[in-house]
Amino acid sequence: MDCLFCNIIKGNIPSYKVYEDEMTYAFLDINPCSKGHTVVTLKKHYENFTDMPAEEAGALFATVKVIAKMVEEAVSADGSNIGLNNKPVAGQTIPHVHVHIIPRFKGDNGGSMHSIVADPKAADDLEEMAELLVME
Ligand code: AMP
Ligand code: ZN
Repeated sequence: MDCLFCNIIKGNIPSYKVYEDEMTYAFLDINPCSKGHTVVTLKKHYENFTDMPAEEAGALFATVKVIAKMVEEAVSADGSNIGLNNKPVAGQTIPHVHVHIIPRFKGDNGGSMHSIVADPKAADDLEEMAELLVME
C-alpha cells in the first residue's frame, strides 16, 4: 500500500524514531508545532480512528500514555496537547491513524482544544443532543 506512514513504519522512508513495540511506532513530526512534537501510530493501517477496533485503539493509547510522559520530561514541557485529527474535515492530512503529542510551554501563546472550532449555536440543543447520543 502506498501510505507514507506505513512506509515510515517499515523503514522504507527515514524517520526520527522515538519508540517502537510490537503494535506501535512513534517518531518526531517533521514539521513540529513545538519542541518534541511526536506522532504515535499503530503499525497496522487504519485510515480513521473511528474505523479502528477498540482493542487496537487501546494499544495505540497505551503507547501514547507512556510516550507523552517521556516527551514532556525530555523537553521539560509544562504540559502537552494530545489528540488526533479524525478525517480530512478535521485536518487529517495523512490517512493512517496517528496521535499527536504536542508539548506545551508556559508563555508559548498556543491555544487549547477549544480553539479548534467554535459554533455559537452548539449549545442551543444540548437536551436534544443528549437524547441523540446517549448509549443504552
Ligand atoms: P495530520 O494533519 O493530523 O494528518 O498530521 C500529519 C502530520 O504528519 C503532520 O503534522 C506532518 O508534519 C507530519 N508528517 C508528514 N510527513 C512526515 C514525515 N515524512 N515524517 C514525519 N512526520 C511527517
Ligand atoms: Zn498506512
